[in-house]
Amino acid sequence: MNRWGIPKQIESIVRQRDIVCVYCGVELVDSVTKGQSRARLGTWEHIINDARIVTLENIARCCCSCNASKGSKDLSRWFGSDYCRSKGITIESVAPVVRNRLLKLG
Ligand SMILES: [Zn+2]
Repeated sequence: MNRWGIPKQIESIVRQRDIVCVYCGVELVDSVTKGQSRARLGTWEHIINDARIVTLENIARCCCSCNASKGSKDLSRWFGSDYCRSKGITIESVAPVVRNRLLKLG
């Protein structure tokens, strides 16, 4: 487990799969130096906001901006936010892992 409670195996698979933010598509960075913007810093995301769901389908990497904007909102509600509108983030534009998760929920 890493310090976010994600098993090592899932962590390494997701790190390789999500090299860009699953929401807005920016290239993720692993660290930023002091004074640099944290916007593109990769963060761990539970697509469905439930920390107990630790699966390849629910764990993803997204940028700090998207993570901060999404917070604990439901995805479908978040897609309607000003942030998503201004960035053109929609169910069609996000990574397949997010889209599949949403489609499964109906
Ligand atoms: Zn993003």
